Amino acid sequence: MIHCPVCAVEMREVAAHANPGQMIILDQCMKCGGIWCDKWELFPVQTDEGVRLEPVNEESLREIAPIDDDNRILYCPRCTAKLLTAKDPALPADLQLHRCMKCDGIWLNRGQFTKFKAQQKKIRSSKLGTETHAQKLAEVMQNPKSWVVTGTQGMFAYPRGEEESDETVQSSLKEAAKLVLQTLARMLIGI
Ligand SMILES: [Zn+2]
Ligand SMILES: [Zn+2]
Repeated sequence: MIHCPVCAVEMREVAAHANPGQMIILDQCMKCGGIWCDKWELFPVQTDEGVRLEPVNEESLREIAPIDDDNRILYCPRCTAKLLTAKDPALPADLQLHRCMKCDGIWLNRGQFTKFKAQQKKIRSSKLGTETHAQKLAEVMQNPKSWVVTGTQGMFAYPRGEEESDETVQSSLKEAAKLVLQTLARMLIGI
């Protein structure tokens, strides 16, 4: 169990819908409503999930004062490293996410998850085809095996060499997908 970097209370695990058939477990503070995403968790979550997750426990949220977090230093709930503010020209100025440079986790104050996802949706729809691309990559990340077996067509079809063992194909696929996804994620987060 990890603790909220803002309130220091224990956070609760919440399930968020990702790509079809996948759930991602995020950690949410029931006091301030902030959400912690471990590495790779933020990007694949469906764009409307913030709206569903963030209004939790409205009553206790009303009791606390808004966080004046501009100068406050937050620490990673996983590895206690200092969280840095990620500045991204692709994101609105009021959407400053906190990221751990050590474990790559991301902290989102209440409301930021919804904003981030709205922006992600906007970026995706302005770049035709990017969404499909990103979703496919996330699927590969999650389960490269099923992807190879079902034989996805087009740009994602992997030419299966005779000499290569399945293990090599899959691990190199995973590595390649990881790199591309990392680049995409960096473009969005701006690191
Ligand atoms: Zn909190
Ligand atoms: Zn960390």
